[in-house]
Amino acid sequence: MQGVTIVDHPLVQHKLAILRDQRTSTRTFRGLLRELGALLCYEVTRDLPLEDVDIQTPVAATRARMLAGKKLVFAPIMRAGMGLLEGMLELVPSARVAHIGLYRDPISLKAVEYYFKAPTDVAERLVIVIDPMLATGHTAVAALDRLKEHGVTQIRYACVLAAPEGVDIVRSHHPDVAIWAAAIDERLNEHSYIVPGLGDAGDRIYGTK
Ligand code: URA
Repeated sequence: MQGVTIVDHPLVQHKLAILRDQRTSTRTFRGLLRELGALLCYEVTRDLPLEDVDIQTPVAATRARMLAGKKLVFAPIMRAGMGLLEGMLELVPSARVAHIGLYRDPISLKAVEYYFKAPTDVAERLVIVIDPMLATGHTAVAALDRLKEHGVTQIRYACVLAAPEGVDIVRSHHPDVAIWAAAIDERLNEHSYIVPGLGDAGDRIYGTK
């Protein structure tokens, strides 16, 4: 699929299998999602530009490379996106966070915004939107619309599981936004859950069901 990177690293696939299993406890689920956040972050940031820096090791002067310019913002879509956030911040502690509060109206299945708080300079940063599940794509599109309204031009999208329908919607509304996922599943069911999926990610993170 154009614009979609499947993160098929064995560690990611192994953790995903445990995440999917309905017997996995809330505590384990949360821990795995945090680890997947770090592993996804590693892949999403793979091509970030580097710049040379001169440093002194205890042994000699040398030239090394550090991240150049592009400052990062992680933008979790609440609430399930929070499950990936800590793992990402472990890898990039200086990143800023934009919280995007959207819920899916149970009747219309459309995204309704209830919270949005981003760094004031968000437009100058690379924003990585995070949500474990890319299902219908309505929430993702609403989040991307909102970020673009704030002037953001560099956006990437990271999720654990995607449905083909969600990928198509995001790619058709926002073809400039590349997507990273651990897997693309078969389809959505009549309740817009991803099949086979892993159930309701928010409920499994927070033990609310
Ligand atoms: N959100 C979830 O948490 N799970 C799905 O399967 C779809 C959307």
